Amino acid sequence: MTWLYWRVPPFVTSIFFVLGVLTLYWVLLNWMISWVHRHHIDIADDMLNAWFGVIYMLLFVFSMQTLIVGTSISWQFMNFQIIALIFCGYFLNIHLRYYALLPVVLVFMVFNHSIFYWQSWGHAATLLLFFWSLNYTRIHFQKHRYAWGYYMMVSTFFGGVLWVWMKLKFNLDWTTFFQEWIYLIIFEVLLYGYVTMLTNDSELKLRLAKFANHDALTQTENYGAYTSEIEGLFSDSTKNHLNLSMMMFDIDHFKHVNDTYGHLAGDRVLQHVVTVAQTVIDANDPNVKLYRTGGEEFNIVFPGYDLASTTTIVNQIFTAINNLDVKFDDQQIPISISVGVSSLACDDQTDNDFYNRVDQNLYHSKRNGRMQITTA
Ligand code: GH3
Ligand code: MG
Ligand code: MG
Repeated sequence: MTWLYWRVPPFVTSIFFVLGVLTLYWVLLNWMISWVHRHHIDIADDMLNAWFGVIYMLLFVFSMQTLIVGTSISWQFMNFQIIALIFCGYFLNIHLRYYALLPVVLVFMVFNHSIFYWQSWGHAATLLLFFWSLNYTRIHFQKHRYAWGYYMMVSTFFGGVLWVWMKLKFNLDWTTFFQEWIYLIIFEVLLYGYVTMLTNDSELKLRLAKFANHDALTQTENYGAYTSEIEGLFSDSTKNHLNLSMMMFDIDHFKHVNDTYGHLAGDRVLQHVVTVAQTVIDANDPNVKLYRTGGEEFNIVFPGYDLASTTTIVNQIFTAINNLDVKFDDQQIPISISVGVSSLACDDQTDNDFYNRVDQNLYHSKRNGRMQITTA
């Protein structure tokens, strides 16, 4: 194929351009989210999405416009700018107030040499109204069966009004006006379809990830989550000389509970134990994390804690679980736990060395008559 035949109309090019811009955004965002998670940085995914989205789209709009600013065709990339605005106002679900857009619009007008045109002021006011309407539509009709219909209504209408201002400013003929408006509508449909597809895909991944990391019975994180978390914590803590402690507990004679009251009662006991332990943790420090690492075995990880500071929470959990009978049907099931506690030592080579010491302490409690804590 030669260049002579490879003449793709600008409209087709721009479709792939818009899809490319969105794909790059998506890839970068996912990379950033996993980087933030790997480094345990405390930023919500939503927040990252919103701010990265705004910065990315601003860069996109301004850098495109640099190519044609001040020329008689400075309207040519307007559809891209509108798509960027719709993306931020509707899909990023940003609770950015419409007046926060005003300074951006003013900077753009100065940059675009359009601040002295009355049509541009009309255009600017329409943009603000458009952004507000997108926010409103998203918040109120997102879950609606015809959400896409409301989206199309708002974006088609405002897109048309925005092109009217440009028609007035640049004396565009009606053919150009309708052609650009129709192109815009096609972009808007594509944007909706593509973003919805990407979002559904990532929601599915999120659901699968949650399913893989959580225990279905107690809703705590499971052994898989524990192993992936402890590796990072162990290397972080040893490298930066930070404290790290762990508590492990096992329900005493749990087989007997199952044999006496039945498996459903056993399940209820497991749920009860998790609720009690989690309540104590929540009341103390949300950074402390509970995992169900075995059938009736649980690990609690205390990042930044030495043995002494762990003691208070360990004692609270121990006392709370041992003193609260579990109600199942009309029966009261008494339960107790045995506990092992330890903290990171200088000669721990791997997280398993650390884990084994906690485990040994737990077995020490078991061998010495159960319902006790061994700390070493
Ligand atoms: P010890 O005091 O030495 O820990 O005795 P134990 O009976 O608690 O320990 P053992 O390891 O002999 O028994 C654990 C039991 O936990 C066996 C298994 O059937 C039961 N179990 C494991 N997972 C579940 C579960 O999800 N639900 C129920 N109901 N039972 C479970
Ligand atoms: Mg047990
Ligand atoms: Mg056990």
